[in-house]
Order: sequence, then structure tokens, then C-alpha cells
Amino acid sequence: MKIICIGRNYHDHIKELNNKVEKEPLFFLKPDTAIQPKGHPFFIPDFSKNIHYEIEIILKICKNGKKINEQFSHKYYNEIGLGIDFTARDVQDKCKELGHPWEKAKGFDGSAQISNKFFHKSNLELNNIKFRLEKNKTIVQNGNSSQMIYSFDYLISYVSNFYTLRTGDLIFTGTPSGVGEVKINDKLEGFLNDEKILSVKIK
Ligand code: ZN
Repeated sequence: MKIICIGRNYHDHIKELNNKVEKEPLFFLKPDTAIQPKGHPFFIPDFSKNIHYEIEIILKICKNGKKINEQFSHKYYNEIGLGIDFTARDVQDKCKELGHPWEKAKGFDGSAQISNKFFHKSNLELNNIKFRLEKNKTIVQNGNSSQMIYSFDYLISYVSNFYTLRTGDLIFTGTPSGVGEVKINDKLEGFLNDEKILSVKIK
């Protein structure tokens, strides 16, 4: 399986990192080895001094497809969860400066945290999914799917022009503002519509 991550999909997050709004969705991949086994802590890797959390809504692809017309995108995902796209921000800044790909800043082991629970999309109001991240019981990120620049359906259609989507692939749909650094002993908790479905300790 593969993990496709969308960048710059929320205006307030684009502003906080001084990035520009993209004319087309920006995406990158994480390898399947980035997925943290459930219940394991996240270990800060030794190659970074500035690991950031990014809470994101994730879509689980339920059907193989390529060049999917946007009006049929909804047939290609059923389940929605949350993820944390851990990012070595210092490494990423260096990559950006050099014009290099971001993968080593984004795809390292443990960089994809996946919620314990996924919701069937029929149980959610897709344009109004509330989600938040708490760090040590303080809210640090607060988002709503209504704030996304590119919708779930558009993203599925767009990405499938380049890559065949397969059952089990995950799409991280971008993060709202409030990204920040983690330190040893922090605890991160992700909530979707006020239900806690993700929890990870930093080591
Ligand atoms: Zn992200």
C-alpha cells in the first residue's frame, strides 16, 4: 500500500509557514514503513532537532482506480480517520532551500500515525468534519473539513491522474494551522467530532 499526503490544503496553515496557495494540489508519498504500529510511542529520530506534528483527516481507499472522474470519487473511499503527519521541519527546510524532494523529512519510520478507529463516511457530514489535536491536554490544532481548499473528491480524482489508487491506500488530506514541535514526554491526542481516536506518546 502507499500513503499519499496532500500539502498546503488549508489557508491558515499556508500562511503560518509563509507558503503560497498552489494552483494544483501538492502531494508527496510516505512509504508503508512510515506507519507506526498501534500503541507504540513515537521516537524522535536523531537526525532532526525540530519534529512537528500535523493532524490530518485521512481517507482509506476501498477500490482500485485510475483517472477517476471527480463525480465518481466517492465510490473509491468509505472510511475516514485521523493521522499525524510527523515532519522533520529542519530537514524539510533544508530540502526546500536546496530544491530537493521532501521524502527524508516526511517519510521516516513512525512519521505516519494512524487513528485506532475509522468512521464510515455515511456517518459523517463530509463538508463539516470537526477535528483537533491536543498536546498535553491543550488544544494546539483545530480544523474542519469545510476549510479545505481541495475537497476529498477533487483530491482523489487529481491524484489518480498520476498514480493508480489501490484498496488500502491512505490519503492524508492536509493540516490546518497550529503545527508545532514535539518534545520527549509530550502526549498527543487526536479527536474527530469530539471523539478521541488517536493517542501517541513522544519518546
Ligand atoms: Zn501534512
